[in-house]
Amino acid sequence: MNYLQKDEFNSHMKKRIIGLIKDWDLIQEGELIAVALSGGKDSVLTLHMLHEFQKEIDFEMVAIAVDEGIEGYRSHGMHAAEKNADFLGVKLLKKSFKDEAGFTLDEVYSFFKSACIPCGVFRRNILNKTAYEIGASKIATGHNLDDEIQSFLMSFARADLVKFSKFGPKLDLIHPQLVPRIKPLWNIPEKEVGIWAVLNDIEVHFDECPYSNLSLRARTKDFLNRAESNSTGTKKAVLKSFTKTFIENKLAEKIKEEMGVAQLNECQICKEPSSALICKACEMKDIIKINMESDI
Ligand code: SF4
Repeated sequence: MNYLQKDEFNSHMKKRIIGLIKDWDLIQEGELIAVALSGGKDSVLTLHMLHEFQKEIDFEMVAIAVDEGIEGYRSHGMHAAEKNADFLGVKLLKKSFKDEAGFTLDEVYSFFKSACIPCGVFRRNILNKTAYEIGASKIATGHNLDDEIQSFLMSFARADLVKFSKFGPKLDLIHPQLVPRIKPLWNIPEKEVGIWAVLNDIEVHFDECPYSNLSLRARTKDFLNRAESNSTGTKKAVLKSFTKTFIENKLAEKIKEEMGVAQLNECQICKEPSSALICKACEMKDIIKINMESDI
C-alpha cells in the first residue's frame, strides 16, 4: 500500500467511525468519556478516534486499563495502553484484579468452567466502578463488528434473550450507578482495525489471550471467519439483518419491556447495580473464597 492508499484508508476509517458517533449521538459536548483501554488494537483505535473527535466537539476523555493478572500476556497490553495514552496526552487510570478484588485471574480461573466467565464479570465491575467514581457519563469500548455479531450469536446459542437488548452501538442508562456503554467501532470489521494498526505503525498488542481458545467466543469467531471466507460479506449481512430486526423494528426494546431488563437494584453486599440480590462479582468472590480455602 502506498502513501496515497494509506491516507485514503485512514480517512475512510475516520469518516465511518466519526460518522457512527454522530449518527447515533454517542458523545455530547461537555461529557467525560472513559475509554476501556486494554492496549489491544480495538481499544487503541477507539482512543485515537475519540481523540480525533475531540477536535470537533468539546468533551473530556480518561482511559482505564484493567490488568486481569494473566502472566506473559497482559503486561504487553498495559505497556501499549501506556504508550498510546501518553502519546495522545490522555490520562490513564491503571487498575488490577489483584488490587481491586484480591486475586489474579491466573489464581482463580480454574474454579470456573471458562476463564472468560470471572474475567468478564470482574473487568466489567472494575471498569464500571472506576468510571462511576470519576464521574464519567459513558464508557467507550473497542467492540468491533466481529465482536458484536459473535456476542449476538452466542446469546442466540444460549437462548439468552436479555443479552439481545444489548445489541447496538449505544446502551441506555438503566441505573444511575451503571455507566452506559458506547461502541464507536460497532460497524468496523476486526480485520480493518488490524490493518489500521499495522499501516500506521501503532504500538498495540496482537497476542491472543492464553485462555481464549477455550471459550465459546473463540469457536463462534472461527465459525464466522470460515463463513466469511466462503462468502465475502457474510458478517456485514448478519449485522445488517440484526440491526433491522432488533433496532429498526424495535425488538430489543420490546424484549427489555417484556423481560424487565430495566429493573436493577443494588447488590446487598457491595451496593453495585445488580439484577439479583447479590451481584455476580460478589457471588464469584464467594466461590473463589471457598475454593481457595479448600486448597490450603
Ligand atoms: Fe479474559 Fe477470556 Fe478475554 Fe482472556 S479471552 S482476556 S480470559 S475474557
